Amino acid sequence: MKKIALITSGGDSPGMNACIRAVVKTCLHYSIVPFGIYDGFQGMIDRKGYEMEYTDVDNIIHRGGTILGTARCKEFMELEGRLKAIDYLKSENIDGLVVIGGDGSFTGAYHLGQEMNIPIIGIPGTIDNDIYGTDHTIGYDTALNTVTEAVDKIRDTAASHHRIFFIEVMGRDAGFIALNSAISSGAENVLIPEKHMDIEKLVRDIKAQNKGRRGSIIMVAEGDEWGGALELMEKVKPFLPDYDLRCSVLGHIQRGGSPSALDRIIATRMGSFAIELLKEGKTNLMIGTEGEHLVTCSIEQGIKENSIPDLKKIKLLAKLRTK
Ligand code: ATP
Repeated sequence: MKKIALITSGGDSPGMNACIRAVVKTCLHYSIVPFGIYDGFQGMIDRKGYEMEYTDVDNIIHRGGTILGTARCKEFMELEGRLKAIDYLKSENIDGLVVIGGDGSFTGAYHLGQEMNIPIIGIPGTIDNDIYGTDHTIGYDTALNTVTEAVDKIRDTAASHHRIFFIEVMGRDAGFIALNSAISSGAENVLIPEKHMDIEKLVRDIKAQNKGRRGSIIMVAEGDEWGGALELMEKVKPFLPDYDLRCSVLGHIQRGGSPSALDRIIATRMGSFAIELLKEGKTNLMIGTEGEHLVTCSIEQGIKENSIPDLKKIKLLAKLRTK
């Protein structure tokens, strides 16, 4: 291993920079050249890489986003696009590749690995936490904290004005953020893509919770079956004419910001471990956490298996609801 390329791909997530820093520093520790490529797979096609130095990763551990940039690249989804990327990696004499991203990025990495004989290690970087083979993805903890802080603020208004707030959080296909932020922010109800919610039951719950109470919070994942918080609110409105209903979509604030300590630690450990694995001759693996430990599974397994949140937590919320 003389030269290892590195990309961040898909949606950015807090902690990606901490991971880049660990990859670069561990490479340099072993006198391997770290080769950063801008804008994910798009940058491979556009030939936008450079040899990184210690100074490139100074003072980035605390910064959100990714200094390498990221992109969603349609061209890479076709063989023709991937052949351009392969040509670039070959022309730069790349011996190994580290891909930091979500399941889409891992799918791209898997195809690349099939078509080019190059060792690849995947590191799960996405706020959604929806990747099989890991307890935590890089960025998830920070996003959860951002949502919790935002809901705390909205709760002040909900309580003061006796309002019922439907709060939409990210999660097109997965309810990790909605479910766990519902617990951490003391929400009364949650709607996630993995579980059907009966509208009549939701209306009954809201009425029960708000007898003499001062407002409540319903967390809604953007990919829930009713189409998000606004659509859900419009759906229940006719059944709750005496209640003051409001909607808040948290949007992109959930992606940015300085990474939490947990995300920095996970990102740093995973980034360094990726280089150790490549040095040992390992390939086509993704790194995950299992409790305190770092573990691996094949990238193929990571993209084929589903990861779903612990649905018992919905029962926990029900137990804590006012009857
Ligand atoms: P996030 O979870 O934050 O959305 P992601 O990695 O899942 O991150 P995607 O946009 O789904 O984000 O994927 C990132 C990139 O991976 C795509 O833009 C594309 O270049 C590549 N990719 C995704 N799916 C495939 C595929 N089936 N074949 C080849 N490349 C793919």
